[in-house]
Amino acid sequence: MNQLRNCSPRDEQFGYECGRCSKCCHGKLIQVNPYEIGRLARCLGQTTTEFRAAWTDGGAGNYLRRGTDGACVFLGPDGCTVYADRPLVCRIYPLGRHVAADGTERWSHLAPYPESAGVYTREGTIADFLASHEAELFLRAADQYTHWVRRAAEALCADSASLGTEGDGVPTNLADMDSTIVAHCAAMGRAEPSNLEARKDLHLEILHQRLDEVRGGSYGRKQTESAELSEVLGNGG
Ligand code: SF4
Repeated sequence: MNQLRNCSPRDEQFGYECGRCSKCCHGKLIQVNPYEIGRLARCLGQTTTEFRAAWTDGGAGNYLRRGTDGACVFLGPDGCTVYADRPLVCRIYPLGRHVAADGTERWSHLAPYPESAGVYTREGTIADFLASHEAELFLRAADQYTHWVRRAAEALCADSASLGTEGDGVPTNLADMDSTIVAHCAAMGRAEPSNLEARKDLHLEILHQRLDEVRGGSYGRKQTESAELSEVLGNGG
């Protein structure tokens, strides 16, 4: 997608009427963070571990799979089959969101997919558009995971000790919300929260704890860190 121009803040006049042509669900890499995977997994009655394996590229948990025609794997004959839990980029399309390291937010308008039936309007504001697409929980989760990734990057620059994941009851893949929570709660002898928002908050708490441990030098093993970071980083950052 081409970036047409930059704009900010959320009170800028903006509107977009979707024509329900589904063209924007083709030819796109839909990046997902652990919260978005959690939403989609619950929608399908799966764990995040099962969802990542079944519905993301190579089971890596980074991008939703696409069919041979380039369409998102969740596009059905009548549109999105996971609409209530669709990822942030789908909710805010055709807006692009950019957040600087200091938290400053700006928005860009993206060129609609060729021959898309959608129409830009100036009725309402960006804030209205976000509210109408129930984007707030997704924006918050994106910011929270991006914050963790930035902390991790700083820690890794300061100390090449890794976010290593072997032993000590710590799961191998920190980006996988459910397996991380299962291992953590088992080790701590505490009950798992069932609510997804609470699970997301616990997942972030574990990630930050892990970073604090790494920064404190309590883990001496060398592990490869870049893959772990890239898996956690979702959209919105
Ligand atoms: S998740 Fe739904 S809205 Fe997003 S690209 Fe896939 S089919 Fe389209």
